Amino acid sequence: MIDKEKVKKAVDMLLEAIGEDTAREGLTDTPDRVARMYEEIFAGYEDDASERLSRQFEAEETGSANGIVIEKDISFYSMCEHHMMPFFGKVHIAYIPDKKIVGLSKLARTVEVFARRLQVQERFTSQIADAVSKELGAKGVMVVASAEHTCMTMRGVKKPGTKTVTMSLRGEFEQNEGLKNTALSLIYERGNQ
Ligand code: ZN
Repeated sequence: MIDKEKVKKAVDMLLEAIGEDTAREGLTDTPDRVARMYEEIFAGYEDDASERLSRQFEAEETGSANGIVIEKDISFYSMCEHHMMPFFGKVHIAYIPDKKIVGLSKLARTVEVFARRLQVQERFTSQIADAVSKELGAKGVMVVASAEHTCMTMRGVKKPGTKTVTMSLRGEFEQNEGLKNTALSLIYERGNQ
């Protein structure tokens, strides 16, 4: 649980430290606003991927027992742990069901669980892959994330639009190059970024 009082105090100190007048009108509610916002954008610490993926269906009944299931273009916003600045973009998840599949919205929920924490993109991608692999017992999982890091694009080297791409592979996607390429071509078909 986020300690809102502590966040408020810290933001107040931060404003003072950068030379702001904490008493000026525009800033009087800022510590409180940030504290409430943090409660939302860091809600992932309280959330559990195994719960999000617990409602499963039999793959045989839906005819997807031997196929690849892909949920692509899942938007996300996270916070980089090195600068506490947002990074955001899209996640694509492909998996090969064993006996179980989940509702597609549950994959998007799983992305949220790991996005709403301080993160590095490599770990974010890998945590999603592990959760889908473990909770569904999927035969293979591929997670690709493509994101813009504001800590890179609005400071430092300042290259707006630069994307960082990370990929995590589990099971059959790790062992079978052809399968991996099939999933990638389905994800990136027709000029999809
Ligand atoms: Zn950063």
